Amino acid sequence: MTTPVIPETEAGGLLTIDLAAITSNYTFLRKKAGASECAAVVKADAYGLGAESVAKTLWDAGARTFFVALPCEARIVRAAAPDAVIYILSGLTPGASAILWDMNARPVLGSVAEIDEWATFCRSNNLDGDAAIHVDTGMNRLGLPLDEAGAIAGRVVEGTLGFKPALVMSHLACADEPGHAHNLRQLDAFTAIRDRFPGVPASLANSAATLTGGDYLFDLSRPGIALYGGNPIPALENPMQPVIRLQARIVQIRPARAGETVGYGATQTLRRPSTLAIVSIGYADGLLRSAGASDTGKGTDAVIAGRRCPFVGRVSMDLSAVDITDLPAGAIKRGDYATIIGDGIGIDDVARAAGTIGYEVLTSLGPRFKRTYMS
Ligand SMILES: *Cc1c(COP(=O)(O)O)cnc(C)c1O
Repeated sequence: MTTPVIPETEAGGLLTIDLAAITSNYTFLRKKAGASECAAVVKADAYGLGAESVAKTLWDAGARTFFVALPCEARIVRAAAPDAVIYILSGLTPGASAILWDMNARPVLGSVAEIDEWATFCRSNNLDGDAAIHVDTGMNRLGLPLDEAGAIAGRVVEGTLGFKPALVMSHLACADEPGHAHNLRQLDAFTAIRDRFPGVPASLANSAATLTGGDYLFDLSRPGIALYGGNPIPALENPMQPVIRLQARIVQIRPARAGETVGYGATQTLRRPSTLAIVSIGYADGLLRSAGASDTGKGTDAVIAGRRCPFVGRVSMDLSAVDITDLPAGAIKRGDYATIIGDGIGIDDVARAAGTIGYEVLTSLGPRFKRTYMS
């Protein structure tokens, strides 16, 4: 799935993805992971940044194990990294065992039904199909409840499961708040259950828990967002390098009078004679509508001609308005770019303005930018 490159004059803006920063972030996380293997989560098209380029970069940086959500994503990563170990986090789609086997991808099995289906496939084809066992330790999303996981562990030890698990894993609900009591409950539950799978490598840590380190690391950590520059632990300063730069074209510069309103719903009234830059980015591009401004709430900012300028009024589908009244006259012209992410504005800043998280900002990025990969 190589998306065609849109020429600059046909695009609304520029999205620059710094692959060297992804490599630095991986190297940093690998040091944090210490003796445990540092895998890479590249689900959702590598958090919106392009699974093919990102997986190749991470393979070259030393990552050998990759996690995706779905078989269609595994196929892309397999083509980019022919020798990688690939796990499919969302489990085994009914009837998909042969397809996964053919693309050499491993399901993360999270229910007895999935385990039985995989075991039947392996037995009837006389295959030793590697797979992960997912145990739920307190998230209630995917994974076996502890009692069922214990029963499966019994079958592994007896040698009657039908295949040998290559990984036992669980996922933390509150790793981004290291002091949250839920983390220790999950750590204790996971430590106890993994002991019942002797000889099977164990994995618990996402990005945040990889930074927290210590007992959370087990044999393999699974960072995602940190690779892409997001701040895994919001209460701490972000140790990761920014990966993306997003610029939107200024399509019109217009004066507006005090007392006039801006945008749909007339939610923001100008308090002074103003100059507005109308920029070619909207919610169809993944600039979330909730990042807009109104009389009662500030929105996100843009950097134009080196200065922070606030958004004004609602974000519409293709366009947004930015207040450039404070820029020196003539500082910019039609066709120049406004920086939406970059120049000190991080994905987490846009997320905060929109009332969401950096993950959603990244995975929302749309197809109308000219995408450039820097290496
Ligand atoms: C998405 C995901 C990760 C990666 O989480 P980050 O917070 O992005 O590091 C790890 N494990 C599982 C099961 C996931 O779904």
